[in-house]
Amino acid sequence: MNSSAPASATPGSTGSTGRKRGRKCTSDIWDDFDPIYNEVNGVKVKVKAKCHRCKSILSAAGSGGTGHLRRHHKSCIAKSERTTRV
Ligand SMILES: [Zn+2]
Repeated sequence: MNSSAPASATPGSTGSTGRKRGRKCTSDIWDDFDPIYNEVNGVKVKVKAKCHRCKSILSAAGSGGTGHLRRHHKSCIAKSERTTRV
């Protein structure tokens, strides 16, 4: 009649015990981009990235959002190689 309470209700195992290595603070993308900082309340925050090749300014707010920069860099190289003005 009375079913025992479902005690063990694990709300999603928060696994991932311990952080593995690989905590790069600077990705190598910054070899090809110049970080542009903005000062907010006396704190410098990275907001944009400037491409060394085409000088475009791309948004790079926050940390860890460099995927699009990488993509841009790749296509930027491809483009510049394609448009070889002779
Ligand atoms: Zn570019």
